Amino acid sequence: MARQHKPSGRDLHPDTLSIKHGEEATPGAPEAGDVVSPIHLATTFGVGEVIDDRDWTEYEPEHNEFFYSRVANPTRHALEKRLAALHDAEFGFAFAAGLSAISAAVMSSVQPGDHVVAFEQVYSGTDMMLRRLFDERLDVDVTFVDATETETVADAMRPETTLVWMETPTNPRIKLCDIEAIADVAHEHGATLGVDNTFMSPYFQRPLELGADVVVDSTTKFINGHTDSTGGAVVTNDEAIADDLWLFQVVNYGCGLPPFDCYLVLRGLKTFPLRMRQHEANATAVAEFLDDHEQVRRVFYPGLESHPQHDLAERQTSGHGGLLSVELDATYDETIRFMEELDVVELAVSLGGVETLVEHPASMTHNTIAPEDRRAIGITDSLLRFSVGVEHIDDIVADLDAALASIE
Ligand SMILES: *Cc1c(COP(=O)(O)O)cnc(C)c1O
Repeated sequence: MARQHKPSGRDLHPDTLSIKHGEEATPGAPEAGDVVSPIHLATTFGVGEVIDDRDWTEYEPEHNEFFYSRVANPTRHALEKRLAALHDAEFGFAFAAGLSAISAAVMSSVQPGDHVVAFEQVYSGTDMMLRRLFDERLDVDVTFVDATETETVADAMRPETTLVWMETPTNPRIKLCDIEAIADVAHEHGATLGVDNTFMSPYFQRPLELGADVVVDSTTKFINGHTDSTGGAVVTNDEAIADDLWLFQVVNYGCGLPPFDCYLVLRGLKTFPLRMRQHEANATAVAEFLDDHEQVRRVFYPGLESHPQHDLAERQTSGHGGLLSVELDATYDETIRFMEELDVVELAVSLGGVETLVEHPASMTHNTIAPEDRRAIGITDSLLRFSVGVEHIDDIVADLDAALASIE
């Protein structure tokens, strides 16, 4: 039996859950009445009495809950309860990275000989994991498809397909897939649907409610939101998957999120809904500004009516998030110059923090792909990906405007 994290406050709004849920009592010292969860650094916990009939292969919260920190830690528990609540999920787990969360989620659904269908252009680390670990070493065949059309996913399914792995929207072309329709396809074939939800976060998109079986967010991004902690979350309502996730987290890999990072994420989450609303408002303003600018060829943002999947975004999400990509009307060199002219906007990979960041896929994240191959997947020399932060919108726009003027 995996741990039960059924939130008590299912009828509460994310704004409320983000502030308190999971931190209500201090395990072991309720009389102190801490309003925020302490950082429990102990690696072991006094058990008080001898329990000689315990089955150590199973997690049983009714026994001494905390006995060794890798297995269970009070600060991590507080965070895991909150992560589950934000997805309205039964089970939540906090991992040491988004990628360890993804590897545990994939691991929970495949065995040698199985087949996986994945969205092409998933996060580069996920792509490498699926190819080099699962496909090449663990005898798990992986097929990558353009999942913007659900039919291509259906066509790739085989009798031995046990997992469909989606990420929506994708990076850097901001392509979406229809989670609800793909869940039907996966389930018709008896396969699990896993979704990497990092770009939207549970504030705007809750894939479990659309039929997904297991959902990952890199907490490094919007969930922590302050660019100072690496971590990952997995949520599910499926008890068998939860048992496996727990096994991978605490026994196989020992990659639970450390207590100090759990504290940082609990703290970061207190302003999560506030930040998400501002990210979206700013991203919308930036998308509209760039869309109207003569130095800009195209803007990819699900909130713009010109986005080919705008209607799907409207149906599937409660907002359009803080990420967008643009194609400048510029050469490779002009694009580099544009980025170097930026002052408020920082040139860096990663996303989801309070600061606005820009990255250039052709030179930074996708530079190992040959230019012709890059262009074939829509990554042109002047494509830029912005993670729009929560600074004052006028300062962001003025910075972009000045940098665009410099390359005219
Ligand atoms: C950053 C990211 C990851 C990996 O998360 P880490 O915390 O860096 O391991 C996975 N998926 C997406 C979409 C990401 O943006």
